[in-house]
Amino acid sequence: MGAVLKVGLTGGIGSGKSEVSARLRAHGAMIIDADRIAREVVEPGTPGLAAVAAEFGEEILRPDGSLDREKLASIVFSDADRRAALNAIVHPLVGERVAELMEAAPEDAVVVYDVPLLVENDLAGMYDVVVVVDAPVETQIRRLVERRGMTEEEARARIAAQATREQRRALAHHVIDNSGSLDELHAQVDALWDELVRRAHTAPAG
Ligand code: ADP
Repeated sequence: MGAVLKVGLTGGIGSGKSEVSARLRAHGAMIIDADRIAREVVEPGTPGLAAVAAEFGEEILRPDGSLDREKLASIVFSDADRRAALNAIVHPLVGERVAELMEAAPEDAVVVYDVPLLVENDLAGMYDVVVVVDAPVETQIRRLVERRGMTEEEARARIAAQATREQRRALAHHVIDNSGSLDELHAQVDALWDELVRRAHTAPAG
């Protein structure tokens, strides 16, 4: 007996969440990438993009008809009401797409939702297990500067706009400590995978 185990994976920018997600995928996890789906539901030609344009006006479209994300982000960044209006369009569409993907998941599957803003959007309750990838802020900054070409100021600003390590850890069932080497990270992910598979096999179907 088993059931699909829903795992929410999160972590601050540069924490190593993508590394963890890739390794879980290699083990056989079904990965649901929330950011990617959120982009897909507003691709040109979708009802999602039409709804966003109806709400925010044609000026959030680029000349080629695609969504001008930077412009939309600048509108919703400082305005909670506009952000809520955007979420009211996008979230249900993401939910539908996720439900479709879930229907295709075999029994006993481990489904990992890669959700950068899980804590910020208060989504912990949606998952059987919440996994947080954690690293010291200075380590996050070093990775973002060395590997993603950000300036230190950009990296600090991005981190400051997100939940704190403490806020994330408070919601975690499982914390992956990514303050060390990639080998150390991989060993933790491999141990986590064994535990997740065990839970997927023993969880009551429901
Ligand atoms: P996130 O998805 O959390 O923003 P990534 O997984 O993309 O972060 O990691 C940021 C960068 O740091 C990537 O280039 C990644 O390969 C690298 N990285 C992650 N963890 C480690 C580690 N333990 N040691 C060295 N580099 C790492």
